Amino acid sequence: MAFEGLTERLQNAMRNLRGKGKVSESDLRATMREIRLALLEADVNFTVVRKFVKTVEERAKGAKVLEGLNPSQQIVKIVDEELTQMMGESAVPLNKSPKIPTVIMMVGLQGAGKTTTAGKIALKLKKEENARPLLVADDVYRPAAIEQLETVGKQIDVPVFQMGTDTDPVEIAKQGLAKAQADHNDYVIIDTAGRLQIDTDLMDELKNIKAEINPDEILLVVDAMTGQNAVATAEGFNDALGITGVVLTKLDGDTRGGAALSIRAVTDKPIKFVGQGEKMSDLDIFYPDRMASRILG
Ligand code: GDP
Repeated sequence: MAFEGLTERLQNAMRNLRGKGKVSESDLRATMREIRLALLEADVNFTVVRKFVKTVEERAKGAKVLEGLNPSQQIVKIVDEELTQMMGESAVPLNKSPKIPTVIMMVGLQGAGKTTTAGKIALKLKKEENARPLLVADDVYRPAAIEQLETVGKQIDVPVFQMGTDTDPVEIAKQGLAKAQADHNDYVIIDTAGRLQIDTDLMDELKNIKAEINPDEILLVVDAMTGQNAVATAEGFNDALGITGVVLTKLDGDTRGGAALSIRAVTDKPIKFVGQGEKMSDLDIFYPDRMASRILG
Protein backbone atom coordinates (compact mmCIF):
# COMPACT_ATOMS: atom_id res chain seq x y z
CA MET A 1 0.00 0.00 0.00
CA ALA A 2 1.14 3.57 -0.67
CA PHE A 3 2.89 5.47 2.12
CA GLU A 4 2.90 2.45 4.44
CA GLY A 5 6.47 2.89 5.64
CA LEU A 6 6.17 6.66 5.92
CA THR A 7 2.95 6.49 7.93
CA GLU A 8 4.43 4.04 10.37
CA ARG A 9 7.60 6.05 10.84
CA LEU A 10 5.80 9.34 11.30
CA GLN A 11 3.49 7.78 13.84
CA ASN A 12 6.45 6.30 15.70
CA ALA A 13 8.26 9.62 15.64
CA MET A 14 5.35 11.39 17.27
CA ARG A 15 4.42 8.56 19.62
CA ASN A 16 7.25 9.53 21.97
CA LEU A 17 5.53 12.82 22.66
CA ARG A 18 2.18 11.31 23.45
CA GLY A 19 0.91 11.62 27.01
CA LYS A 20 3.58 14.14 27.90
CA GLY A 21 2.24 17.09 29.85
CA LYS A 22 5.21 19.10 28.73
CA VAL A 23 7.52 18.68 25.76
CA SER A 24 11.08 19.87 26.19
CA GLU A 25 13.04 21.39 23.35
CA SER A 26 15.19 18.30 23.24
CA ASP A 27 12.09 16.07 22.98
CA LEU A 28 10.96 18.20 20.08
CA ARG A 29 14.38 18.06 18.47
CA ALA A 30 14.47 14.27 18.74
CA THR A 31 11.01 13.99 17.21
CA MET A 32 11.91 16.33 14.37
CA ARG A 33 15.04 14.30 13.68
CA GLU A 34 12.89 11.18 13.30
CA ILE A 35 10.39 13.00 11.09
CA ARG A 36 13.23 14.29 8.93
CA LEU A 37 14.63 10.77 8.47
CA ALA A 38 11.17 9.36 7.75
CA LEU A 39 10.61 11.93 4.99
CA LEU A 40 14.06 11.44 3.48
CA GLU A 41 13.58 7.69 3.50
CA ALA A 42 10.24 8.18 1.73
CA ASP A 43 12.28 9.89 -0.99
CA VAL A 44 11.03 13.40 -0.34
CA ASN A 45 13.22 16.10 -1.84
CA PHE A 46 16.01 17.15 0.54
CA THR A 47 15.39 20.90 0.35
CA VAL A 48 11.68 20.40 0.85
CA VAL A 49 12.35 18.29 3.96
CA ARG A 50 14.71 20.86 5.43
CA LYS A 51 12.22 23.66 4.98
CA PHE A 52 9.40 21.54 6.40
CA VAL A 53 11.32 20.59 9.54
CA LYS A 54 12.36 24.18 10.15
CA THR A 55 8.80 25.47 9.78
CA VAL A 56 7.29 22.84 12.06
CA GLU A 57 9.95 23.46 14.70
CA GLU A 58 9.49 27.21 14.57
CA ARG A 59 5.72 26.96 14.75
CA ALA A 60 5.88 24.54 17.68
CA LYS A 61 8.19 26.83 19.60
CA GLY A 62 6.52 30.06 18.56
CA ALA A 63 3.02 29.00 19.52
CA LYS A 64 4.27 27.98 22.94
CA VAL A 65 2.99 24.54 22.08
CA LEU A 66 5.62 23.00 24.25
CA GLU A 67 4.16 24.50 27.40
CA GLY A 68 0.51 24.27 26.39
CA LEU A 69 -2.09 21.61 26.92
CA ASN A 70 -1.67 18.41 24.98
CA PRO A 71 1.55 19.39 23.23
CA SER A 72 1.75 16.15 21.26
CA GLN A 73 -1.69 16.66 19.74
CA GLN A 74 -0.77 20.18 18.78
CA ILE A 75 2.43 19.05 17.13
CA VAL A 76 0.56 16.38 15.17
CA LYS A 77 -1.79 19.16 14.03
CA ILE A 78 1.11 21.36 12.93
CA VAL A 79 2.71 18.45 11.03
CA ASP A 80 -0.64 17.75 9.36
CA GLU A 81 -1.08 21.39 8.35
CA GLU A 82 2.45 21.73 7.04
CA LEU A 83 2.23 18.48 5.04
CA THR A 84 -0.96 19.88 3.50
CA GLN A 85 0.78 23.16 2.76
CA MET A 86 3.68 21.30 1.17
CA MET A 87 1.27 19.68 -1.28
CA GLY A 88 -0.47 22.93 -2.17
CA GLU A 89 -3.09 23.59 0.48
CA SER A 90 -6.24 23.02 -1.53
CA ALA A 91 -7.45 21.23 -4.65
CA VAL A 92 -6.91 23.07 -7.93
CA PRO A 93 -9.56 22.45 -10.62
CA LEU A 94 -8.90 22.07 -14.34
CA ASN A 95 -8.39 25.33 -16.21
CA LYS A 96 -11.32 25.99 -18.46
CA SER A 97 -11.61 28.05 -21.57
CA PRO A 98 -14.43 30.62 -21.57
CA LYS A 99 -15.25 29.35 -25.04
CA ILE A 100 -15.52 25.66 -25.98
CA PRO A 101 -13.52 23.58 -26.52
CA THR A 102 -11.20 23.64 -23.55
CA VAL A 103 -7.92 22.31 -24.86
CA ILE A 104 -6.02 19.83 -22.68
CA MET A 105 -2.60 18.62 -23.73
CA MET A 106 -1.39 15.45 -22.04
CA VAL A 107 2.39 15.09 -21.76
CA GLY A 108 4.75 12.71 -20.00
CA LEU A 109 7.29 9.95 -20.32
CA GLN A 110 6.39 6.60 -21.86
CA GLY A 111 4.69 4.26 -19.44
CA ALA A 112 3.72 6.96 -16.95
CA GLY A 113 0.05 6.42 -17.73
CA LYS A 114 -0.64 9.24 -20.19
CA THR A 115 -3.01 7.42 -22.52
CA THR A 116 -4.88 5.75 -19.67
CA THR A 117 -5.20 9.09 -17.87
CA ALA A 118 -6.45 10.86 -21.02
CA GLY A 119 -9.30 8.33 -21.06
CA LYS A 120 -9.91 8.64 -17.34
CA ILE A 121 -10.19 12.42 -17.58
CA ALA A 122 -12.54 12.16 -20.57
CA LEU A 123 -14.77 9.76 -18.62
CA LYS A 124 -14.73 11.99 -15.54
CA LEU A 125 -15.79 15.04 -17.58
CA LYS A 126 -18.47 13.03 -19.29
CA LYS A 127 -19.88 11.67 -16.06
CA GLU A 128 -19.58 14.77 -13.89
CA GLU A 129 -20.30 17.55 -16.35
CA ASN A 130 -22.21 15.71 -18.99
CA ALA A 131 -19.46 16.99 -21.29
CA ARG A 132 -18.67 15.73 -24.79
CA PRO A 133 -14.91 15.37 -25.01
CA LEU A 134 -12.85 14.44 -28.06
CA LEU A 135 -9.64 12.45 -27.70
CA VAL A 136 -6.83 13.08 -30.19
CA ALA A 137 -4.18 10.42 -30.90
CA ASP A 138 -1.00 12.45 -31.39
CA ASP A 139 1.67 9.82 -30.72
CA VAL A 140 2.80 8.89 -34.23
CA TYR A 141 5.91 6.98 -33.17
CA ARG A 142 4.17 3.95 -31.78
CA PRO A 143 1.30 2.62 -33.94
CA ALA A 144 0.17 0.70 -30.84
CA ALA A 145 -0.40 4.03 -29.08
CA ILE A 146 -3.16 4.99 -31.54
CA GLU A 147 -4.82 1.60 -31.15
CA GLN A 148 -4.57 1.88 -27.38
CA LEU A 149 -6.33 5.25 -27.38
CA GLU A 150 -9.01 3.89 -29.72
CA THR A 151 -9.59 0.99 -27.35
CA VAL A 152 -9.88 3.43 -24.45
CA GLY A 153 -12.29 5.60 -26.47
CA LYS A 154 -14.53 2.59 -27.22
CA GLN A 155 -14.51 1.56 -23.59
CA ILE A 156 -15.79 4.92 -22.38
CA ASP A 157 -17.75 5.77 -25.51
CA VAL A 158 -15.77 8.88 -26.39
CA PRO A 159 -14.74 9.64 -30.01
CA VAL A 160 -11.07 9.45 -30.97
CA PHE A 161 -9.58 11.56 -33.74
CA GLN A 162 -6.54 10.12 -35.50
CA MET A 163 -4.60 10.58 -38.74
CA GLY A 164 -2.40 7.49 -38.57
CA THR A 165 1.36 7.73 -38.19
CA ASP A 166 2.36 9.56 -41.36
CA THR A 167 1.22 13.06 -40.48
CA ASP A 168 3.19 15.60 -38.48
CA PRO A 169 2.00 15.69 -34.85
CA VAL A 170 1.59 19.48 -34.98
CA GLU A 171 -0.76 19.10 -37.94
CA ILE A 172 -2.69 16.31 -36.21
CA ALA A 173 -3.17 18.50 -33.12
CA LYS A 174 -4.36 21.36 -35.32
CA GLN A 175 -6.79 19.15 -37.25
CA GLY A 176 -7.97 17.55 -34.01
CA LEU A 177 -8.77 20.95 -32.56
CA ALA A 178 -10.57 21.97 -35.78
CA LYS A 179 -12.62 18.76 -35.57
CA ALA A 180 -13.58 19.51 -31.95
CA GLN A 181 -14.59 23.04 -32.94
CA ALA A 182 -16.66 21.77 -35.84
CA ASP A 183 -18.35 19.12 -33.69
CA HIS A 184 -18.86 21.48 -30.71
CA ASN A 185 -17.00 19.25 -28.29
CA ASP A 186 -16.61 20.79 -24.83
CA TYR A 187 -13.10 19.43 -24.41
CA VAL A 188 -10.35 18.24 -26.69
CA ILE A 189 -7.76 16.04 -24.99
CA ILE A 190 -4.54 15.55 -26.93
CA ASP A 191 -2.50 12.46 -26.15
CA THR A 192 1.06 13.37 -27.17
CA ALA A 193 4.04 11.06 -27.61
CA GLY A 194 6.22 9.98 -24.72
CA ARG A 195 9.84 8.93 -24.62
CA LEU A 196 11.84 6.87 -22.17
CA GLN A 197 13.49 10.06 -21.04
CA ILE A 198 13.33 13.78 -21.68
CA ASP A 199 15.11 14.72 -24.91
CA THR A 200 15.24 17.84 -27.03
CA ASP A 201 13.36 16.30 -29.95
CA LEU A 202 10.42 15.48 -27.73
CA MET A 203 10.44 18.90 -26.08
CA ASP A 204 10.70 20.69 -29.42
CA GLU A 205 7.75 18.74 -30.75
CA LEU A 206 5.69 19.49 -27.65
CA LYS A 207 6.61 23.18 -27.82
CA ASN A 208 5.49 23.29 -31.44
CA ILE A 209 2.19 21.62 -30.60
CA LYS A 210 1.70 24.04 -27.72
CA ALA A 211 2.37 27.02 -30.00
CA GLU A 212 -0.12 25.72 -32.56
CA ILE A 213 -3.07 24.89 -30.30
CA ASN A 214 -2.55 27.22 -27.33
CA PRO A 215 -3.77 24.75 -24.67
CA ASP A 216 -5.69 25.85 -21.58
CA GLU A 217 -4.11 23.03 -19.66
CA ILE A 218 -0.82 21.16 -20.08
CA LEU A 219 -1.09 18.17 -17.78
CA LEU A 220 2.06 16.25 -17.03
CA VAL A 221 1.47 12.62 -16.13
CA VAL A 222 4.09 11.13 -13.81
CA ASP A 223 4.40 7.75 -12.16
CA ALA A 224 4.40 8.08 -8.37
CA MET A 225 6.38 4.85 -8.09
CA THR A 226 9.45 6.56 -9.55
CA GLY A 227 9.90 8.89 -6.57
CA GLN A 228 12.51 11.58 -7.12
CA ASN A 229 12.68 10.72 -10.83
CA ALA A 230 9.08 11.87 -11.05
CA VAL A 231 10.09 15.14 -9.44
CA ALA A 232 13.03 15.57 -11.84
CA THR A 233 10.71 14.80 -14.76
CA ALA A 234 8.27 17.41 -13.55
CA GLU A 235 11.05 19.98 -13.27
CA GLY A 236 12.31 19.11 -16.76
CA PHE A 237 8.90 19.38 -18.44
CA ASN A 238 8.03 22.50 -16.52
CA ASP A 239 11.26 24.29 -17.41
CA ALA A 240 10.98 23.42 -21.09
CA LEU A 241 7.26 23.65 -21.64
CA GLY A 242 5.57 25.38 -18.72
CA ILE A 243 3.11 22.79 -17.46
CA THR A 244 -0.11 23.86 -15.73
CA GLY A 245 -0.68 20.79 -13.60
CA VAL A 246 0.39 17.27 -12.73
CA VAL A 247 -1.39 13.93 -12.62
CA LEU A 248 0.27 11.49 -10.28
CA THR A 249 -0.44 7.90 -11.31
CA LYS A 250 -0.08 4.50 -9.64
CA LEU A 251 -0.83 5.77 -6.18
CA ASP A 252 -2.50 2.41 -5.65
CA GLY A 253 0.95 0.81 -5.70
CA ASP A 254 3.43 0.80 -2.85
CA THR A 255 4.90 4.21 -3.56
CA ARG A 256 6.90 5.66 -0.70
CA GLY A 257 5.48 9.14 -1.00
CA GLY A 258 8.37 11.25 -2.28
CA ALA A 259 6.70 12.39 -5.48
CA ALA A 260 3.36 13.27 -3.89
CA LEU A 261 5.09 15.29 -1.22
CA SER A 262 7.74 17.04 -3.32
CA ILE A 263 6.29 17.92 -6.71
CA ARG A 264 4.29 20.96 -5.68
CA ALA A 265 7.02 22.38 -3.49
CA VAL A 266 9.73 21.86 -6.14
CA THR A 267 7.84 22.97 -9.28
CA ASP A 268 5.16 25.22 -7.79
CA LYS A 269 2.69 23.47 -10.09
CA PRO A 270 -0.37 21.78 -8.58
CA ILE A 271 -1.11 18.07 -8.60
CA LYS A 272 -4.64 18.09 -9.99
CA PHE A 273 -5.51 14.40 -10.12
CA VAL A 274 -4.24 11.10 -8.81
CA GLY A 275 -4.54 7.76 -10.58
CA GLN A 276 -5.33 4.95 -8.21
CA GLY A 277 -5.79 1.91 -10.45
CA GLU A 278 -5.94 0.65 -14.01
CA LYS A 279 -9.70 1.02 -14.49
CA MET A 280 -11.09 4.04 -16.31
CA SER A 281 -12.92 5.14 -13.16
CA ASP A 282 -9.76 5.08 -11.01
CA LEU A 283 -9.02 8.81 -11.11
CA ASP A 284 -9.54 11.20 -8.22
CA ILE A 285 -9.18 14.91 -7.60
CA PHE A 286 -6.09 15.59 -5.52
CA TYR A 287 -6.94 17.07 -2.12
CA PRO A 288 -3.75 18.01 -0.24
CA ASP A 289 -5.47 17.91 3.17
CA ARG A 290 -6.91 14.44 2.59
CA MET A 291 -3.56 13.24 1.31
CA ALA A 292 -1.84 14.58 4.44
CA SER A 293 -4.37 12.75 6.62
CA ARG A 294 -3.84 9.58 4.63
CA ILE A 295 -0.08 9.88 5.06
CA LEU A 296 -0.36 10.48 8.79
CA GLY A 297 -2.68 7.46 9.04
P1 GDP B 1 1.69 6.00 -21.45
O1 GDP B 1 2.82 5.30 -22.14
O2 GDP B 1 2.19 7.12 -20.60
O3 GDP B 1 0.58 6.40 -22.34
O4 GDP B 1 1.13 4.95 -20.36
P2 GDP B 1 -0.16 4.02 -20.41
O5 GDP B 1 -1.38 4.83 -20.30
O6 GDP B 1 -0.04 3.07 -21.54
O7 GDP B 1 0.02 3.25 -19.02
C1 GDP B 1 1.11 2.38 -18.75
C2 GDP B 1 0.64 1.30 -17.80
O8 GDP B 1 0.35 1.86 -16.53
C3 GDP B 1 -0.63 0.59 -18.25
O9 GDP B 1 -0.51 -0.77 -17.96
C4 GDP B 1 -1.71 1.24 -17.37
O10 GDP B 1 -2.80 0.37 -17.15
C5 GDP B 1 -0.95 1.49 -16.09
N1 GDP B 1 -1.52 2.57 -15.29
C6 GDP B 1 -1.80 3.84 -15.64
N2 GDP B 1 -2.28 4.55 -14.60
C7 GDP B 1 -2.30 3.70 -13.54
C8 GDP B 1 -2.68 3.83 -12.15
O11 GDP B 1 -3.09 4.89 -11.66
N3 GDP B 1 -2.54 2.72 -11.39
C9 GDP B 1 -2.07 1.53 -11.88
N4 GDP B 1 -1.96 0.51 -11.05
N5 GDP B 1 -1.70 1.39 -13.16
C10 GDP B 1 -1.82 2.45 -13.98
